[in-house]
Formats: sequence, structure tokens, C-alpha cells
Amino acid sequence: MAIVEDVCGNIEPEFHSTTCPVCHEPGQKVKDVTLRSLLKEDKLNKLLKTDYFLCLSQECPTSYYTKDGTHFTKEDLTVPIWYKEESPVPICYCKGVTDEVILEHVVNKKCCTNLAEIKAHTGANTGKECLTKNPTGR
Ligand SMILES: [Zn+2]
Ligand SMILES: [Zn+2]
Repeated sequence: MAIVEDVCGNIEPEFHSTTCPVCHEPGQKVKDVTLRSLLKEDKLNKLLKTDYFLCLSQECPTSYYTKDGTHFTKEDLTVPIWYKEESPVPICYCKGVTDEVILEHVVNKKCCTNLAEIKAHTGANTGKECLTKNPTGR
């Protein structure tokens, strides 16, 4: 549902990005601080000093990868990557708002029809910690 995707963690394949070594789809560049915040502690020592990209495929088990083909799986993270998991999944990681909560407002209660109303009613998209809490880093 498009309105859910608009809330947080904008995912958009980047034209110049490299492709995932597992699914070969273009990814999205992420900042080092995002990986540092979300990787499980025992994976941090595998973090290389290079650019990392987020795999955007729904089906692919990869989370972050480098242009050399080194990669982490989604199990290596402390949070689920929402578009790779079954509902309910966090949409706004800062405020802990799930897709279920948002859909409840949009589909069942019908009180939210746009992003401003979703923000006001659920608190989603009002946090400032996406860089370190959302796997997309945004
Ligand atoms: Zn992939
Ligand atoms: Zn509402």
C-alpha cells in the first residue's frame, strides 16, 4: 500500500549504485553509522572500511553489501528490514509504529487519508533517529 511506503525509510533503487551480489538488483547507499547501529555486536568486526549498499529486493536474504561482493544477511541485523518480512513490521523505527497500526487508521477507521494525518494520529514519521534505527538510514 503506497501510503505506508511514504511514511518512513524511503526505498528507491539508485541509478549509480552497485548491484546486490546475491539477487543482482540495484541497491541504495547507506551511511557507515547506520550499519554500526544496526549490525549485531558479533558482526561489527566484519565491517569493512568501504561503501555499503542496502539490498532492496523483497525476496533476497541480503541486508547490506559492498561492491566487492562482501555482504551481511538480514539475520545479521538487530531489527527486521520491513519490506523483507511479513506484516506486522515496523514502518517507523523511531516511534515503533507498524504497518498494521497505519493500515488500521487508513483502511478500518478511515481517519487517515494522507501523511500529515498519519503523523498526527500515530506519531509515525515524527522521529529523528532514522539514521541509526531504520535499516534504510533515512
Ligand atoms: Zn539482494
Ligand atoms: Zn488516524
